[in-house]
Amino acid sequence: MENDSSHQTAAPDLDYLSLPLEVRVHGRGGQGGVTCAKLIASLYTQMGLHVQTFGDYGSERSGAPIQAFTRVDRVAIANRNKVYQPDHLIVLDEALMGPQVLSGTAPGALLLLNSRSNPESYAGLYAEYQFGVVDATAIAREHGIGSNSVVIINTTILGAYARLLGLPLSALEMAYVSLGLGGDLAAAEEAYERVQMQARAEADANPAALAPITLPAAFPPVMPTTEHCADSPAALKTGAWSTQAPRYREQSAPCNFACPAGNDVRGFIQALKNDGAEAAAAVLLRTQPLPSVCGRVCPAPCMQACNREAFDGAVNIRSLERWIADHSALELVQQTATQRLRFAVVGGGPAGLSTAYQLTLRGHAVTIYEAGPALGGVLRNGIPAFRLPQEVLQRDLERILRLGVEARFNIRLDKAGLLRLQSEHDALIVCTGFGPPLGLAVDGAGLAGVEQGLDFLDRAKRNKVELQGHVVIVGGGNTAIDCARTALRCGAASVKLVYRRGREEMPAIAEEVESAELEGVRLLLHRQPVAFTGNGAVSALLVAEVEPGSPDESGRRRPVVTQRTASLACDKVLLALGQSSAMDFLPDTWQVREGRAWQGDQALNVWFAGDCASGEGTVTHAIGNGRRMALAALARLTDTPGEALREAESPVAAGQIRFSHFEVAPPHRDKELPPSARRGSFAESSLGLAGPEEADRCFSCGQCTECDTCLIYCPDGVISRSADGYRIDADYCKGCGMCVAECPRSAMEMYEKNRQEVSSCR
Ligand SMILES: Cc1cc2nc3c(=O)[nH]c(=O)nc-3n(C[C@H](O)[C@H](O)[C@H](O)COP(=O)(O)OP(=O)(O)OC[C@H]3O[C@@H](n4cnc5c(N)ncnc54)[C@H](O)[C@@H]3O)c2cc1C
Ligand code: SF4
Ligand code: SF4
Ligand code: SF4
Repeated sequence: MENDSSHQTAAPDLDYLSLPLEVRVHGRGGQGGVTCAKLIASLYTQMGLHVQTFGDYGSERSGAPIQAFTRVDRVAIANRNKVYQPDHLIVLDEALMGPQVLSGTAPGALLLLNSRSNPESYAGLYAEYQFGVVDATAIAREHGIGSNSVVIINTTILGAYARLLGLPLSALEMAYVSLGLGGDLAAAEEAYERVQMQARAEADANPAALAPITLPAAFPPVMPTTEHCADSPAALKTGAWSTQAPRYREQSAPCNFACPAGNDVRGFIQALKNDGAEAAAAVLLRTQPLPSVCGRVCPAPCMQACNREAFDGAVNIRSLERWIADHSALELVQQTATQRLRFAVVGGGPAGLSTAYQLTLRGHAVTIYEAGPALGGVLRNGIPAFRLPQEVLQRDLERILRLGVEARFNIRLDKAGLLRLQSEHDALIVCTGFGPPLGLAVDGAGLAGVEQGLDFLDRAKRNKVELQGHVVIVGGGNTAIDCARTALRCGAASVKLVYRRGREEMPAIAEEVESAELEGVRLLLHRQPVAFTGNGAVSALLVAEVEPGSPDESGRRRPVVTQRTASLACDKVLLALGQSSAMDFLPDTWQVREGRAWQGDQALNVWFAGDCASGEGTVTHAIGNGRRMALAALARLTDTPGEALREAESPVAAGQIRFSHFEVAPPHRDKELPPSARRGSFAESSLGLAGPEEADRCFSCGQCTECDTCLIYCPDGVISRSADGYRIDADYCKGCGMCVAECPRSAMEMYEKNRQEVSSCR
């Protein structure tokens, strides 16, 4: 039972209650312990507090020990675990008392015991607690509550509980009436009067202060419940009847599966949630050398795959990655290689950096040879500072260099240079990115004012560029959008983006397209440039309308250019039509097959990674591809099996998540600079998350979080916590599968029993 009582009237003065409050009731089947916990919940509900209450018992026998729990707080309660460290402990049968019942109960806790014994007989035993004792069994018996042999004491003992809390007896009335137990109020009142209390300080001052309880002479002594069970039937090992049994099994998470870099997304989010940014960075940095970068510019396929999308919105994984990178200074240390190899990496973009990082991490000597004056590739000379500030990139680069990666600049490798490097190193990994940008073969393409977008972005990153008049961008990818947003910041009066397909087909990251529009960029879709006009310098662009034709090899509908044209007046045109994949700097004797160089039938120790090999065109793909090639090269050179690079099995699907166990909580969004503040400024436009709370939204798909749900839902009570996780008592598990069905995150499964008998979640 859970209750959200936030609608109730203002709570009374509750200052004396320390919240959150956790109550644990111990009793035996038949004594009404679970109802006792519900009554307690009902009591606190009246005070306008949030409560949660549930029992922990099997369907087995009357007289078996049971526990019931109540949680109380001012805010909605998300914790569904059992109560392990109660603030209030109520014990309905003194025969149960012992270290197990007291476990987790800290000194100072409130302890209420149902006992017919004289409280002095406990002297010294519970001196650490605020101790109360009442003979609730005798009182309930006097009032005829329960049967002659099994007396139900829950309503009675709560009278004593109210007294210990300092509540007036009237506070119980509504709770009892609401559960149809109004007739038991008289017994509660008697317990209220007769409870013997001993706060610790009082006990220290006057140990003999408590008066002995006087049992009513008219009633025979009541048998403890334990004695009723002396002849209970022998326990039947019902586990033998089943053909299937549950077991704990970790499964792959869809976010992990989808991340091209191979990040353990679930792992870093759970580490952030449980242990903070440093612990999360320790997970993330195993696969990700550029977390500050991907945390800002990644298209985040992990988020498209996130199971929470089908519930209330995907976990904002990219921004959590950014949060970790921005709030941890952790660096991994280089391992020692048994055989230190020498690698040359050609190109210092994301692929080359990832390759070098993974090899250096494993103890090898790596030198990056870079044509430009610094590391970063497109991150340095393409992606604008308002999306990726230079100092952010620099932070990731310096971490990589401190690991031990060596870098040489202004060296553009040609055919001879590559052959020389090949002879000087154990292996060569070529990560040179895409080739030169593609042009547009139409009339007037040579007019002044028509410029390659990549050149413009590079110029704008190095120097202050000022634009005037109307600018047209041609293209629909990230380069086009970056050109458009940069042009606005450089002073363009208007920016139009011409693309030959529809918005859904634009290769640019969807959020970036939205940002561009917010900032004032106008999209002209289904338009194809057919000519530039102007006298020496471009003054207009002639565009033709395009209709979707039959699907091409990529499945997209081929654009069919019509005769319907229009002229767009403009002062500048930026071309962003993609880049060639030519690699004419490779030695003539090399052929590239499956990411590796071959000379005839002989495989060379030369591998290719990143855009030049896979052409995927994202930073995360380049990072993943770089790592894969590094490890493939290592496996080949050291004659060892390659490391598992990516989870192979199919991940947990949204349909396997028990949404009903989670509270609806919309994603935490990034703070953004208002569009009005962005024009004319290269300051970072997204400010990231305000805190790491978004990590709490992760379901932890396929991985146990020790939430206790399986244990609570097991109708036979055969699941228990153990030193190594959870244990399932195979002797009594009937194989009903309730635990598997109720696991919120699909971290359990059923198996055919003849294969394995016992399981544990670790
Ligand atoms: C404007 C723009 C915006 C982008 N935005 C995004 C984005 O938001 N998100 C995203 O995920 N991806 C984005 N991308 C794509 C992404 O940047 C690339 O996919 C990624 O950088 C590829 O990494 P790489 O290492 O393979 O190549 P590159 O980054 O191109 O690096 C290659 C490096 O090799 C060097 N090199 C080339 N030839 C030689 C040679 N012969 N000798 C020595 N060195 C050489 C180059 O100087 C360069 O430094 C964008 C690309 C562009 C152009
Ligand atoms: S690199 Fe991209 S895909 Fe991978 S976890 Fe980060 S945001 Fe997600
Ligand atoms: S809820 Fe968490 S574990 Fe599941 S897919 Fe989303 S980020 Fe990954
Ligand atoms: S229900 Fe909770 S404790 Fe049980 S397996 Fe699933 S995640 Fe783990």
